[in-house]
Amino acid sequence: MKEIVRSVAEERIAELLRMAEERTKERGSSSLLAKRYVQIARQIGKHYKIPMPAESKGRICKKCNSFLVPGINCTVRISGKSAIYACNCGNGVTPAVHSRKPTSLRSS
Ligand SMILES: [Zn+2]
Repeated sequence: MKEIVRSVAEERIAELLRMAEERTKERGSSSLLAKRYVQIARQIGKHYKIPMPAESKGRICKKCNSFLVPGINCTVRISGKSAIYACNCGNGVTPAVHSRKPTSLRSS
């Protein structure tokens, strides 16, 4: 029974984060809705003790609950083998370390 509840919660989190990314990418739409989706996803994860998906973990601002999309609401800095997503919110920079996939060798 617990596995079913857990899998449903994981599905909800993934769906909410996908919707938050879509709302953030839609220029002109309210970012408050995207922030609310992220807030609900974080609450579900906290309640059922489910970690955020690995691909989304470094792309959520912990201060303002924004889903970070490069070029829209965050800046990306490359530091060594990792990319740092820094939110543009007024509450200061919240860097989130997001490891990059290993790049393929160049054929030259
Ligand atoms: Zn922020």
